[in-house]
Amino acid sequence: MITYRGYVSCDFCGELHSLSPSVLIKGGPAKRISIAELYSGRDVPTDVAVLQNQQIFCPATGKTFCETDRSKIYLFPIYPLKGGG
Ligand SMILES: [Zn+2]
Repeated sequence: MITYRGYVSCDFCGELHSLSPSVLIKGGPAKRISIAELYSGRDVPTDVAVLQNQQIFCPATGKTFCETDRSKIYLFPIYPLKGGG
């Protein structure tokens, strides 16, 4: 199991903004991956789906937005395990 932090690619400033909560994914890759890539052709689990449709605040522009495009929501491993797992 690897813990991931969700990040959204911001349309306003182009930076990545973090999402919460962090999510545990069994058999996930030890690298950055978008939800669209990870769950291509599969159902997105509920605990990952909560990362979608969130109110995201952009500190650079002061705007708030929702990101529903799964290809723009990235998962970064926080506790990658060596040798797989
Ligand atoms: Zn931004």
